[in-house]
Order: sequence, then structure tokens, then C-alpha cells
Amino acid sequence: MICMKRIILSLSIIFLVSSTYGQIIIQRDAAIEEMVKQVSTDSLKAYVTKLVSFGTRSTLSSTTNKQKGIGAAREWVVQKFNEFGKSSNGRLTAFVDTTTLKSDGRRIDVTTSLGNAMATLRGTDSADDRIYLISGHLDSRVTDVMNRTAEAPGANDDASGVAAVLECARIMSKYSFPATIIFVAVSGEEQGLLGAGYLADKMKKNNWNLDAMLNNDIVGNNNSSETNIIDNTRVRVFSEGLPFFELDKNAANIRSFGLENDGGARQLARYVKEIGERYVDNLEVVMVYRNDRFLRGGDHTPFVEKGFKAVRITEMNENYDHQHQDLRTEKGIKYGDLIEFMDFEYLRKNTAMNLSVLANLSKAPSVPQDVKVDVKNLTNGTSLTWKAPKTGVAKGYYILMRETTSAFWQKKFFTVQTSITLPYSKDNYFFAVQAIGEAGNESLPVVPGVSR
Ligand SMILES: [Zn+2]
Repeated sequence: MICMKRIILSLSIIFLVSSTYGQIIIQRDAAIEEMVKQVSTDSLKAYVTKLVSFGTRSTLSSTTNKQKGIGAAREWVVQKFNEFGKSSNGRLTAFVDTTTLKSDGRRIDVTTSLGNAMATLRGTDSADDRIYLISGHLDSRVTDVMNRTAEAPGANDDASGVAAVLECARIMSKYSFPATIIFVAVSGEEQGLLGAGYLADKMKKNNWNLDAMLNNDIVGNNNSSETNIIDNTRVRVFSEGLPFFELDKNAANIRSFGLENDGGARQLARYVKEIGERYVDNLEVVMVYRNDRFLRGGDHTPFVEKGFKAVRITEMNENYDHQHQDLRTEKGIKYGDLIEFMDFEYLRKNTAMNLSVLANLSKAPSVPQDVKVDVKNLTNGTSLTWKAPKTGVAKGYYILMRETTSAFWQKKFFTVQTSITLPYSKDNYFFAVQAIGEAGNESLPVVPGVSR
């Protein structure tokens, strides 16, 4: 089965990639492959077990008890980050970023100390201010979101996401990247995306160059509560279509060029699919064309609302008997978000997928600048121009092309120049340009503006 998948993948790569000078084949970056191999089910299981041991991680639970509650949990996460930081040569630093929330008459009913457990792996290029962010949420809940004392293991929702964040930090802190990576276990998700909102505000206010955000929320259960489907070979990535941020300002452009499927989050989702599937065997990344599921929210949303590129990564099937439930047995059904219901091999693949995307992004040069498509004259071809990236060295560029009805990029052209003329009409295809680093790592694609 795994062999089959490999064959299919390599065939599709050969088919998809061509250059103006002949066929080229994309190979895995050996350093990323080595990192991906280190993702361990044992580590992941140990993190989730420890997180569950705090009893409840409700945002409203104790922040002072040393063994139980959200306070002890966030201190433990920072302690783990610091432990990993020892092999980072001082580049990984961690702290609990706290803020005080007043009662809001909704899901915060007392003055609450909210704390995101954050670690920053500083980039090695001082000129490169790009930041890549991976998150999971630390807080857990039972049926009543205001219940702060009942046992709320939150094994899958969302110790699975926090475990993925921790495992990426453990492995990646041993390596260096030109861009900066932030690993965060946010709090207050269940009370209304409060920790993510706080962090997104802070990044916006301080003008941080956050280039992509991966929100991992429930990534370790392989089955559905309504059917007998068991599937640990597919994972979903949710991305908004029309951008929430400044839609009015950009609507005319989106409408005339047909760009409703090419916003920042959607481009990031395509990138997650391509890179994740390149590095993780027997895992399909399924793109879902909406920001999130019905009746549910997620920590990427405060980020997309501020104009950042952010997506939600979530398991393919959900088991609602094991989410947001009081621990109990009713009519023979065991309810609750318990560790016994998780699939750690699935969590391993999903973590590896995140790691490969983060590593590929932060190793790549920044995006090509000033990408333009020439529309001065009526022609049946396409002429594109761009400038070198602001940071990093591009050994060349991919020009991506797809039919206007296609969900994915279908063809790639490679060039070392900063312009190209292709015998395909700009009227019939979408194009984008990526900068490629020395080891083949691609930047996010940039959709050209028009040059009249
Ligand atoms: Zn969640």
C-alpha cells in the first residue's frame, strides 16, 4: 500500500513538472526528510498523557495549583520548550505570555489570567524578519463550557495539537532556519478564541511579519461518531476563499481577475497539500474550501481577520462522542475526550506534515518581489516579470500554472531568469511565481499584479 502511494506520487511529480529546458524532478530536501523521520509516536503519546494528567485545562481553572489546572499545564509546556531549547544554542526561548481578562458576561465570568505558552526559534538571517507560526490550544472543556472543575482530559481536543507543536519544537530546535518559527499552545480557545485573538492583535500592532500560520485543532482521532469509517490516511486543511480582511477594498480586483480562489489562506492550503504529501507517505491532505466547520470555530480565524495567511488543520472524520463531553457511559456508549480513543500513528503523520511545511517555508527564500503579468497588448501568450526576493538567495523560480477551474497547480516551469514568456494565454490560466532556495525549498507563490 505504502509502495503504491510512492509510485503514484513520483509519477505525478514527473508529470507535473517541466521546465523550458526539459523535464526536472522535484526531490525531497534531505534535511527535511531527516527531521520528518524523527517525529515519534512515543513522544507524542507522552505529551498527551502528561497534558491529560492536569485533570482539567479549562481556561477558568486554577492558575496557581502546581499539579492541576491550566496554570500547571502552561508551566509544563514552557518547561518542555526550555528543555528542547538546550540543543538550540540559545536560539529557542520560551515564556508564558499572559494577559488579564475581565468578566465579559459571556464565557469569562471572573477576572482571569490567560496565558499562551510560546517558544520562539530565532532565525539565523538577521535581515529576514519572516515568522512562521504553528499552534494548538492548551485549554480543554466538558459539556458545559463554564465548568472549570470536572475532569476534562481534552486528549484529542486539543492535546493532540499541542503535542504536534511540542514535537515540531523538539526536532526543529536542533536545526537552523533563516526565518523565525514560533511554537504556541494558546489558551482560551473554548471561551471564544481568546488566546489566539490576543496573539493576533499583538502581532498586528507590532507589525510582525507573520507569513503563515498553521492551526492544529483535533488532529489525532481516526473515526466518525456516525459511521464505521476508520481512516488515518487523510487530513483536512480548511482555508477561507474570499478574504475577510479588507474584502471591500479588494473586491473589484478579485472580481475582474477571477481571484476568488487565490487569496492568501487558499494559497497556503495548496502549499500545505503539496509539501505535506511530498514528505509524508500514505497521507492525503484534503483541501476544504471554507474557513471552518459548521457550528465550530478555530484559532486561525483571529489571524485571517487581521489579514494574515492562516489555515486550520483537522482530522478527516470527527467523533462527537469524544469532544466537549462530560465523562460518562450512557446506553453502552463511553463519552469523553480520552486518550484511549486516539490514534498516535495518525497524529505522527499529521505532525510530520506540519513539520515539513514549516521547515520548507522557513528554509525557502522570501517571495519574489513585484510579480507582474504584462497586459499591454493583446497576445495569446503570457509574459511575467518579477524581482529577486528581499531575503535569501533564489537559485531559480517556479512559474505555477493551472486552468481556471482547477483546484491545484497543474504545471510548473523553472527558470533562473526574472522574466518568462510562455505560450499559454493569460486569459485561460492562472499563474503564480515562487522563489526556490538552494536545497529546492519553495517560497509561497505570488499571484501577479497587472502591468499595463
Ligand atoms: Zn479544539
